Amino acid sequence: MLSAAFLVVGCGKSDLADNPFLKEWDTPFGTIPFDEIKVEHYMPAFEEGMRVHNKEIDAIIKNKEVANFENTIAAIDFSGELLAKVGGVFFNMTAANTNEEIQALEEKIGPILAKHGDEITMNGKLFERVKLVWDNKDKENLNQEQQMLLEKTYKRFVRSGALLDKTKQDKLKQVNGELTTLESKFISNLLKETKSYELVIDKEEDLKGLPDWLVEQGKATAKDKNKEGKWVYTLDSPSVFPFLEFADSRELREKIFNAKNNRCNNGGDTDNKANIEKISQLRAEKAELLGYNTFADYVLEERMLKTPKEVYSLLEGLLAYSIPAAKKDVVELEKLLVKDHKGATLEAWDWSYYANKIKKAKYDFDAELTRPYFEINNVRQGCFDVITKLYGLTFTERKDIKTYADDMQVFECKNEKDEHVGILYWDPFTRASKQGGAWCNGYREQYKQGDKAVTPIITVCFNYAKSPSGRTTVTAEEASTIFHEMGHAIHGLLSNCTYISTSGTTVPRDFVELPSQILEHWCSKPEVLKMFAKNEKGETIPQELLTKMASVSQFDVAYGMTERYAAAYLDMEYHILTAKEKTGDITAFEKKAMDKIGLINQIPPRYRSTYFSHVFGGGYAVGYYAYVWSEVLDADAFDAFLETGDIFDKATADRFKNEILSKGSTNYADQMYKNFRGKDPSIDAVLKNSGMKK
Ligand SMILES: [Zn+2]
Repeated sequence: MLSAAFLVVGCGKSDLADNPFLKEWDTPFGTIPFDEIKVEHYMPAFEEGMRVHNKEIDAIIKNKEVANFENTIAAIDFSGELLAKVGGVFFNMTAANTNEEIQALEEKIGPILAKHGDEITMNGKLFERVKLVWDNKDKENLNQEQQMLLEKTYKRFVRSGALLDKTKQDKLKQVNGELTTLESKFISNLLKETKSYELVIDKEEDLKGLPDWLVEQGKATAKDKNKEGKWVYTLDSPSVFPFLEFADSRELREKIFNAKNNRCNNGGDTDNKANIEKISQLRAEKAELLGYNTFADYVLEERMLKTPKEVYSLLEGLLAYSIPAAKKDVVELEKLLVKDHKGATLEAWDWSYYANKIKKAKYDFDAELTRPYFEINNVRQGCFDVITKLYGLTFTERKDIKTYADDMQVFECKNEKDEHVGILYWDPFTRASKQGGAWCNGYREQYKQGDKAVTPIITVCFNYAKSPSGRTTVTAEEASTIFHEMGHAIHGLLSNCTYISTSGTTVPRDFVELPSQILEHWCSKPEVLKMFAKNEKGETIPQELLTKMASVSQFDVAYGMTERYAAAYLDMEYHILTAKEKTGDITAFEKKAMDKIGLINQIPPRYRSTYFSHVFGGGYAVGYYAYVWSEVLDADAFDAFLETGDIFDKATADRFKNEILSKGSTNYADQMYKNFRGKDPSIDAVLKNSGMKK
């Protein structure tokens, strides 16, 4: 049996007897008893979870009945419940409330769980049964969701090499191993080069143009680095980007820009060019082994955009608008540049500096002006109210449900019929034990097994600094992030599916940001802002500020769009090579790719090859386009509301709920979208919103 490998010798029943993971949770809605769970409970619970999971898998294999959907595919889906229960808590804690002990455990458990998963997908006997169900699928009368689950399950095995002979399987394992090593080498090189760079300023005149807070930041960084009395700027985003935006010194802007732009492209131990050549080659070999023409074909098979051709046509369609718009911006910006530097031509390190000057002169807009109107609890309530108006969900605080931190809240979510839908943890504030950024995650997914209806438990986390005054405010952009994460949350909460693997947010990567990004649109609409954006005196955000916010949203957008489209294009170029084709010299490869789209000098791709960690550092290869595609989808989908003349149009909201939010991955993403929209998505809405197309 598989289980033996994971059992720690001497871990007897007595250790498990008081382990909270092995008890039914006698809590409201089976929420997590955070006060009872201690770090030492995780490892034995993981081990027991894997042991039980293996036993369940073994029972599926040993089943005397001929394999069918119910006794094999559904049984695999429902197996591992205990493991999911432990993992659901543990992996939320690693992000939201970690400590050294949990981090150490995370490093230890990661490879063990990966191995556990691999042993299931590489289990030949289990695959025999899965394949039998797949081969006989027309004989069983499967509904849409069951067909999707069967296809997902079968492909998960096949895409891991289940159909290959032993020699090819061994080769695949070797390629996967080499890729993992090279990808982590890529990341560690990037980390080293990013961390080691310092722009040290020792003359006060070189600080000209920098706002006070940025001068202070430089001073503090210098102090941290034992360079007291000087100012240091680094390649971390909160340092380099504002420096480029504000520094009057063109020479220093050029210096730090080039450092950023040439990370891991400087020769020596931490140069990534050779790694990129090898990674591209190995991915092409992997695709060939698995029977695909290229790695892009392999990855896209499971996406909404299913072929390289579809991705290229998306990017080329958008670039056809963004590059001409960017060229117009160059002319505008250069007019300002030559006033400071006679006869100069605009360079990449001039762009955000002069764009910022125009923005100030033309719009007199400062994002900080909006802050007093965005008190965090008002924003949350505003977001809840929008969700209630659209989808009939209500949120009621439950003080009787346990949390892992004092400054968070728990809400029970109910539907229009006042029935329980799920639980939402709201964790807004930054703390030392929390990862940076904002995210939404599940503790428990929605599913139905026989009479058992499991309701979802979802969490949203942010990192806002709590104001000592008790009135914490955020910027308009941060308010938008709250709507974004809540969009993911309702995708999980509204899920109405039978199986775990087809439930909630288990959709393709280029579809998963649709529910989150579409909700952001409401957060920028004046009628919504007037519902909740109020200052301390209770005054509603003034119309003048709303008008400014709207006009600024179309300013200087061509640069950002073009750099992202270019990066997505570059990602594709590396992965449409067959195993016989080679990248050759990386610098030349990148240049050739960017020349193909006519990229202008002043705009490098958002990520150049040697520091494109999404693509060469692991999981996001052939995935950068997904950001672009998601924007197309959310703009096009929101247009469905706009077309009715009412952003709360009930019929449209119902369709979005019934065809997308509640459907998980029980159907193909393109089909679900069409069911909602009545047509395929078009790039027009995104171009219209940016002002590039009338
Ligand atoms: Zn998101």
